[in-house]
Amino acid sequence: MGNLGASNVILNPRILMKYFRRAAIGAIAGSASAFPLALTQTNVAIGILLAILVGIVYAVAFRPTPRAYADSAMTAAALGVPAWVIFGVILFPLIAGETPEWSNQGMRDLFPELIGWVLYGGALGLIAQALNDLALAKLGPEPEPAKLALPEPKHIVILGGGFAGMTTAQNLEQVFGADRSVAFTLVSETNALLFTPMLAEVAGSSLEPSHISTPLRTSLRRTKVVRGRVSEVDLEARRIRIALEDGATRDLVYDHAVFALGAVSNYLGLKNVQELAFDFKSLLDAIRIRNHVIDMFERADRETDAEMRRELLTFVIAGGGFAGVELAGALNDFSRGILADYPNLSPADVQIVLVHARDHILPELSESLGRYAQESMALRGVSFRLNCRLNDCRPDCVILSDGEVRARTLVWTAGTAPNPLLKTLGIEVDKRGAVVVDTSMSVPGHPELWALGDCAALKDGKTGNPCPPTAQFALREARTLAQNIHAAQQGRALQPFHFNSLGALCVVGHHTACAELTIPFARRKSVRFRGLLAWLLWRGIYLGKLPGLERKVRVLIDWVIELFFPRDIVQTIDLR
Ligand SMILES: Cc1cc2nc3c(=O)[nH]c(=O)nc-3n(C[C@H](O)[C@H](O)[C@H](O)COP(=O)(O)OP(=O)(O)OC[C@H]3O[C@@H](n4cnc5c(N)ncnc54)[C@H](O)[C@@H]3O)c2cc1C
Repeated sequence: MGNLGASNVILNPRILMKYFRRAAIGAIAGSASAFPLALTQTNVAIGILLAILVGIVYAVAFRPTPRAYADSAMTAAALGVPAWVIFGVILFPLIAGETPEWSNQGMRDLFPELIGWVLYGGALGLIAQALNDLALAKLGPEPEPAKLALPEPKHIVILGGGFAGMTTAQNLEQVFGADRSVAFTLVSETNALLFTPMLAEVAGSSLEPSHISTPLRTSLRRTKVVRGRVSEVDLEARRIRIALEDGATRDLVYDHAVFALGAVSNYLGLKNVQELAFDFKSLLDAIRIRNHVIDMFERADRETDAEMRRELLTFVIAGGGFAGVELAGALNDFSRGILADYPNLSPADVQIVLVHARDHILPELSESLGRYAQESMALRGVSFRLNCRLNDCRPDCVILSDGEVRARTLVWTAGTAPNPLLKTLGIEVDKRGAVVVDTSMSVPGHPELWALGDCAALKDGKTGNPCPPTAQFALREARTLAQNIHAAQQGRALQPFHFNSLGALCVVGHHTACAELTIPFARRKSVRFRGLLAWLLWRGIYLGKLPGLERKVRVLIDWVIELFFPRDIVQTIDLR
């Protein structure tokens, strides 16, 4: 087949015409520029013949660019040097029965010939260019073989550029390789993957915001990235509507659609909280929190009323899971670290309050680690309101089930729900609003739809347990999902998803963390770390997981700077 294809191409009359035209131009240009070459050869006739032959090879080999006179002259002049080595230094002496001469004297003798080749090359480039331009004007563009009508590639559209979406795209690129019968598009509201495990460090001013975000475009090779908000999905027409930032919309038609739209904060119907509290999910949320904290310090520093000062410097965080605990630890370190810059404030003015509905924080870890985290945070000045619910809030007050806290800052990390767009699709969602998928991540009854990550209700194919909404799982799900789309394209059976959690790590502030890591091959057995060792583990593991070498280096530099210098209190955006 391959040989037949090749001979077809060679015998294609349009291709023959194209190269005949180039060869004719090369022959004319070669003979017209032969003078300097012929002059430096021992035999003038051989010099002219050589000039014509080299001219043909040059014109056939190089695709002409219209009016690129300087480029053509320089390229062809530069090619004169290797041509001189091949013919003048090696080939002609060998034909004459001599050994090629590499000595200084030999090179000096051949130097005029080198000048001849370079001048010839320059002239050849210019004349060939002029003839190509003339042919273009008089005969039109070079004849090209009629393009083969290739079938339209299957379009796989990934919605969401978080851990699940970006990793799915990367894995699709890998499993499909050079197969051009498929095309990939990723649609995301942001143009970068946010590394959420380090988000608290941005809010706590340890890391520069952009250092924990990896651009989608540089991480993906053949996936088209569209920045925009998915506003509608028409399952009948297989069409996705995207709202662009300039108010325009764009439609994408898909053969396969992958939902990786993540989750949003769920305020459990608390309207005032939704309106007044800070979210803690996006990079902008972390930047806003950091700037707001600095704002509160600036205002408190000029406040003479002690009650008001305390109100301004009380920061309430709702939710004692990973996100809330890490944020409380980071804000506590930040607030106490920057006190030195505010001479009118004292440590007693600052209060970080963590509100949690259960009797111990970090329910994802074993109780002993949760209690350890609580004790070490309390020692550093964090207050806990446990077995307590957040009922409401006002601009200057947080209303809890067991009393009120006067505060100007409330951050909500107490609940999340799958992206609300999913409920509008008309496919089955669970009671949280997550897309129900089978163990292969395919939407039942819709072989062209897939879902994973925080927006999917997925059960482990081996254990039947629900897969938790973590980055750790999203990354593994993406790998299996890409393989399943590939299998579906090839008519092969789909693989069920299975993954055993590797464990969990949580930083609680001031070089302290707790970690519970699963021991490989020892089912359900884990090893626990706490304190500095766990903190070092956290930093090592997450630095390794942060995508991109450049980002790793930037984060490492930020961490080193943090060891020697105080936290930065520059407000990066003016929120007013
Ligand atoms: C503060 C914090 C700390 C965390 N720490 C850890 C940790 O240490 N370890 C761990 O395993 N997990 C951690 N997680 C959880 C982890 O971040 C999530 O489980 C993970 O991000 C889920 O990946 P995803 O791709 O499903 O969703 P996301 O990463 O949230 O991605 C969703 C994507 O969809 C995009 N999107 C949403 N709506 C639209 C729309 N309408 N149109 C276009 N694009 C849209 C978003 O911009 C985003 O790019 C943490 C989460 C938070 C908030």
